[in-house]
Amino acid sequence: MKPTIALVGRPNVGKSTLFNRLTRSKDALVHDLPGLTRDRHYGHGRVGSKPYLVVDTGGFEPVVDSGILHEMARQTLQAIDEADAVIFLTDARTGLTPQDKIIADRLRQSPRPVFLAVNKGEGGNRAVLAAEFYELALGEPYVVSGAHGDGIYALMEEVLAHFPDAEEEVAAPKHPVFAVIGRPNVGKSTLVNAVLGEERVIAFDMAGTTRDSIHIDFERDGKPFTIIDTAGVRRRGKVSEAVEKFSVIKAMQAIEAANVAVLVLDAQQDIADQDATIAGFALEAGRALVVAVNKWDGISEERRNDIKRDIARKLYFLDFAKFHYVSALKEKGIDGLFASIRSAYAAAMAKLSTPKITRVLQTAIERQQPPRAGLVRPKMRYAHQGGMNPPVIVIHGNSLQHIPDSYTRYLTQTFRKAFDLQGTPLRIQYNVSE
Ligand code: GDP
Ligand code: GDP
Repeated sequence: MKPTIALVGRPNVGKSTLFNRLTRSKDALVHDLPGLTRDRHYGHGRVGSKPYLVVDTGGFEPVVDSGILHEMARQTLQAIDEADAVIFLTDARTGLTPQDKIIADRLRQSPRPVFLAVNKGEGGNRAVLAAEFYELALGEPYVVSGAHGDGIYALMEEVLAHFPDAEEEVAAPKHPVFAVIGRPNVGKSTLVNAVLGEERVIAFDMAGTTRDSIHIDFERDGKPFTIIDTAGVRRRGKVSEAVEKFSVIKAMQAIEAANVAVLVLDAQQDIADQDATIAGFALEAGRALVVAVNKWDGISEERRNDIKRDIARKLYFLDFAKFHYVSALKEKGIDGLFASIRSAYAAAMAKLSTPKITRVLQTAIERQQPPRAGLVRPKMRYAHQGGMNPPVIVIHGNSLQHIPDSYTRYLTQTFRKAFDLQGTPLRIQYNVSE
């Protein structure tokens, strides 16, 4: 499991600057999609071989009441509770402030490891800058510069020291492990109950779970599946748990832990920013995806086509995924959903033969060459599969850094069609030899 790191601190200490540095990604795909509302407070990153999720709590800040933090935002407290580690940022230029002390008091009560960073420390004497921050009793201060990068690698190495390498991840199960995701009230719990209700629950795997989410193994038509239940659906009988607070962090963690995401939408409501944001996470994580447009029972015949078109237009960046129009309540359309979960899983795990990849690439080039960039024309020489889940196709050649996104999209579509990869994102990577 990727750890989740929360960035906490009063306004202006440099959280969003550090966030941008920690999530800087070569995968511009997701960021460049118009219409995809990306909440830039949550992101993916990697230091060395260690991947992580990072949350900038700056976006949650409450009103600043005459220069003093009135109260830490509820969402910030929630993020601190749900994260695996916290980086607490302070500002070397302003020095230690009363707000820092208030936040530190709260963080000392947190069971999560807290790393104290003294930001904007570029060019200064580290020992001198750090000195006054020992008073916060949060251990050794790390003097860093989010803007210039000084000390960030060392800090992140410490933060991530106890979390696993990407390569060390436990052997993944060889069947679909899916997370049911979506904003509150779209019908996730109803869907999970519809799915599990009739099925024999083989085991509650409490050990291999993230906090608060349960992995449930079951069979459907003799085929094994694991469902990741984030909402604690199975425990919902208890009154205390009846009111669920929506947690983007839990949704992100579930997407990470799954190999297929099932995005639930409410057909009776307009597509909301939150729907697009959650879809964006699944896309960014490279997860296979199936969309369940739920509450279809309440939609009249006349409106059905309009609603389908509207959803397809707003979520056009999910064009690789299969959409199912279902009713969790009436248990309609569930079989089709499962067929797509299985085929999306198969597509995500597909082994693509090198000779066929080469053939498809040659044909694609013959049909349409990559455009010239000034005097150079990018030359693609050969390709092979570079990864699974999602499938990655690595293309070798010269001047490939000049290939425009539109051409990459053309290649993606060509490979997708040739290998019948519905339901999974597909990535193209260029390996520039000269
Ligand atoms: P946030 O409110 O905590 O998210 O802070 P921001 O990331 O928006 O940064 C607040 C201000 O501090 C901006 O003007 C940044 O350019 C500046 N800043 C952020 N990091 C550094 C740093 O490492 N060094 C210096 N000198 N300025 C920084
Ligand atoms: P969650 O917050 O996403 O887990 O949503 P719930 O499963 O708790 O459902 C929210 C509300 O939508 C409940 O009142 C459900 O009865 C209702 N609901 C769920 N699925 C359907 C459906 O397929 N059709 C209709 N008409 N209502 C549904």
